[in-house]
Amino acid sequence: MENKYRLIIAYNTAQMLLVDKVLRTAGIQTELVPAPPETGTVCAIAVKIDLSELENSSETLKQNDIKVKDIIEEKKLKLQGLIDEKLGRAVTAEFINILRKIENGDGLNKDEIVYLLSTQKPREIEAIYTAADRIRKEMVGDVVEIRGAIEFSNYCCKSCNYCGINAKNHGASRYRMNEDEIMEVVHDLYKVGIKTVILQSGEDAQWTTERLIELIKRIKRETGMRVTLSVGEKRREEYEALREAGGNNFLLKIETTNRELFKEIHPDDDYDHRIQCSKWLKELGYINGSGNIIGLPGQTVEDIAVDILYFKEMGINMIGIGPFIPAKGTKYENHPHGGIEETLRAVAVTRIVCKKVYIPSTTALASLDKDAQVMALQCGANTIMLISTPEEYRRSYRIYDNKNMVDMEAAVYAVTKAGRKMPEYIKIMKKEERRMKNDE
Ligand code: SAM
Repeated sequence: MENKYRLIIAYNTAQMLLVDKVLRTAGIQTELVPAPPETGTVCAIAVKIDLSELENSSETLKQNDIKVKDIIEEKKLKLQGLIDEKLGRAVTAEFINILRKIENGDGLNKDEIVYLLSTQKPREIEAIYTAADRIRKEMVGDVVEIRGAIEFSNYCCKSCNYCGINAKNHGASRYRMNEDEIMEVVHDLYKVGIKTVILQSGEDAQWTTERLIELIKRIKRETGMRVTLSVGEKRREEYEALREAGGNNFLLKIETTNRELFKEIHPDDDYDHRIQCSKWLKELGYINGSGNIIGLPGQTVEDIAVDILYFKEMGINMIGIGPFIPAKGTKYENHPHGGIEETLRAVAVTRIVCKKVYIPSTTALASLDKDAQVMALQCGANTIMLISTPEEYRRSYRIYDNKNMVDMEAAVYAVTKAGRKMPEYIKIMKKEERRMKNDE
């Protein structure tokens, strides 16, 4: 049967946003969705319209003098062979129905997602991981993207109850890197071939938007690298100015979509405002990152299922899913850490539901067990973030205790053990070269 949706493929993000705006203004209902793999990079976005609006849309675009790259039928990702006789009696009829929907490329509802997140049947878990891994392969391939993160300041004005660098944690030893220190690391990352630098910090008033703008321009001028920002909530104008300066991606996790829990863990943040920030980031054309924490006090699997549906509905492009890990000096310092298995399950189900997105194998997982990063790559994850903060500061960026300082060696280990590929653009230094560099 012919699919009832069409995807408008634009030449670039700016044009895609323009197409979306023009069609909406003309009263046509649109949705921004990941473009199919064959039409562009992992985060390419398409504008989805109903088939009944095709003529009207084409006419509207013509009237506004907008030529698009293509308009194609939305194809569902079909997976053959998820259901086989091996599953036998070890799985329920309900599970088979869900697998059938996954095979057909149909969307899952909340109850089905809850089922996938909570089953304890080994054969069902195995089938969930297999489905996630196959969807990952189809959608984003075997190469694991490697990014370098510079945690450039741990000063923060917020008092998030889970976070070890929150303003009220007087036990945290504070540092702030300056522009030259940051650029030194940026150049090191550039030399090994890394293409994206992640700039992360607490919400630090001294690192003003003006300073960030100058820093982004300098990174662009001196290396041309892509820049991911992870600097918290800002005004729309500030996000816009950072985007104009060259910011490409922005990570601002929702952490949980349960309103009460959100309030409990973020005493000075507003849930609706956080969502508004995420919408602005999308409107401004950032590759939009979100994510959640697994194992927060009082969090349920229903909450996690709603998080996953939220990522899908908001068209989030990068989804960071990490276990909660207690941090000394915080309200939850004695709360147990989130489970590895629960986190891996959330990764797998997110891949099954959201399909063509970046999902990191998170540092938090690696901090609980270095092989958990391997496992995440085997059940849906496709990126790794290196902790590239200089030695003298990295121990102080203690958002949680016993953080694993994932380096290139750890990334190569995880990628190799997971049977995946390192990007060709990375130049891996041999052990002797690294030693010589450290001796310099
Ligand atoms: N200030 C920015 C923000 O809020 O987006 C970026 C820095 S914040 C420290 C980066 C991420 O650290 C958060 O999105 C949160 O998910 C994670 N994080 C902080 N404390 C954590 C903890 N105790 N366990 C797990 N993740 C934690």
